[in-house]
Amino acid sequence: MMATSYTLLPFQFGCFQDDEYLIVNESGEFLFLPRKDVVQLIDGTLPPTSRFFDDLRSKQFIVTGDLAGTLDMVATRYRTRKRFLANFTTLHMMVLTLRCNQDCKYCQVSSESDDAYDFDMKPEVAEKAVEIAFISPSPVIKIEFQGGEPTLNWEALTRAVMKAEVINKRSKKTLEFVICTNLTNMTRSKLEFLRDHQVCISTSLDGPEFLHDNNRILRKGGGTHAAFIEKLQSAISICGQDRISALMTTTSDNVDHFKEVIDEYIRLGFPGVFFRALNPYGLAAKNAERLGYTMAHFAQRYEEALDYIIELNLKGTRFVEFFATILLSRILTPFSTGFVDLQSPSGAGISGVIYDYNGDVYPADEGRMLARMGDRRFFMGNIFTDRYDAIFGGPVLQEIVAKSCVEAMPGCAFCMFRTYCGSDPVRNYLETGDIVGRRPGNGFCEKNMAVLKILFRKLRENDDDVMDVFWSWVTRRSVQEVRNEVI
Ligand code: SF4
Ligand code: SF4
Repeated sequence: MMATSYTLLPFQFGCFQDDEYLIVNESGEFLFLPRKDVVQLIDGTLPPTSRFFDDLRSKQFIVTGDLAGTLDMVATRYRTRKRFLANFTTLHMMVLTLRCNQDCKYCQVSSESDDAYDFDMKPEVAEKAVEIAFISPSPVIKIEFQGGEPTLNWEALTRAVMKAEVINKRSKKTLEFVICTNLTNMTRSKLEFLRDHQVCISTSLDGPEFLHDNNRILRKGGGTHAAFIEKLQSAISICGQDRISALMTTTSDNVDHFKEVIDEYIRLGFPGVFFRALNPYGLAAKNAERLGYTMAHFAQRYEEALDYIIELNLKGTRFVEFFATILLSRILTPFSTGFVDLQSPSGAGISGVIYDYNGDVYPADEGRMLARMGDRRFFMGNIFTDRYDAIFGGPVLQEIVAKSCVEAMPGCAFCMFRTYCGSDPVRNYLETGDIVGRRPGNGFCEKNMAVLKILFRKLRENDDDVMDVFWSWVTRRSVQEVRNEVI
């Protein structure tokens, strides 16, 4: 056996397909190797003449010279990937009301009827929540108005916006607003306010009318697609297309129609789509039998949709799949992506937090919903009775952080994908009664693993056209711009 000529640095590995292994390290670098080379690598017997040797060294899987210097470099890259931790809570979500004019069949928040005013956030609660949000050390404060349908409690929204603007004259942070609205209750004057105060609009669209109206229905009965389109056109003309984005929810109704969904998004001028799988909360859980699908089915359709989107980009239509883009940014770049739902430790509480209509604070909307169902496991405190440091430094958040680092979680610690993955402690608790949960095998893991496998298959094929599209997504440029740079 040849003497060891290198030092191994930590990495995860797993069989990717057939005899081929994927290895991934803490810097986010990856490499495909045949099994026999992985065995040699780990044994310390991989010869310097191996065709993989230089790549392994440049990607910091092995060190042949200055160990301390290489470790410093790895540490810097690790810190960069975990940069989201430095700023602490950026996203502050406010539940302005639980009322909603719609009654969507998969509603996660279990919304209340239009006249249930007891579930409105009082304007003084909204203002106090803004004050608390500004105590966060983050240089960026993003305030997101949620519901129910937040336009139904307009006074709380306007008071919160104006309070934040006043405070920010002193604080001088980067201040962003988002309203999550179904749009069907929107008016011209509300849109003008949103435009004047630079509030971005995040709305929901499940596809063309025959798909959207299956589940997104009015409380008084009837579909919402026609009203949605009319209000969307007003919103575009008043606020500008670039201020409006949409999310779709995948159900059994549209999972076999992703192509039609994509075409509808393009027709309406959206720059991309986020294929969001159904989560096990609220009505979605109750109606799971009718609305659900297997993750294998979702993954198959997702891959077909991805191929269709790639093809569109190659033919000149710029369009993005956002979940793939987040994962590709983690795989292809050293930067932190700050996606709250997929972080390690979990982004719940430390990246995003939610203020209920009565001032109670939870690390995520799902924690708030559990409290509504009678389980206050994730209650962090109340903005009127607790101080900022008691809320954000209290036992709930400390436990979440301690138990949501994939680097140390059973099932995740040795997973080849864990550098790019995260955890969802609230969902784990809901499914197993324990915030660590059980992976692999739960829906969260199944989806991430399936999508990561699809992306890595494409990275392994390394087709020039596909890679140009991926780089265009990651760098937010057109395929043409990416190609010109390469030339
Ligand atoms: S618009 Fe949103 S809050 Fe209202 S019923 Fe639909 S999913 Fe629920
Ligand atoms: S959740 Fe699943 S895919 Fe993600 S790191 Fe854990 S085991 Fe791997």
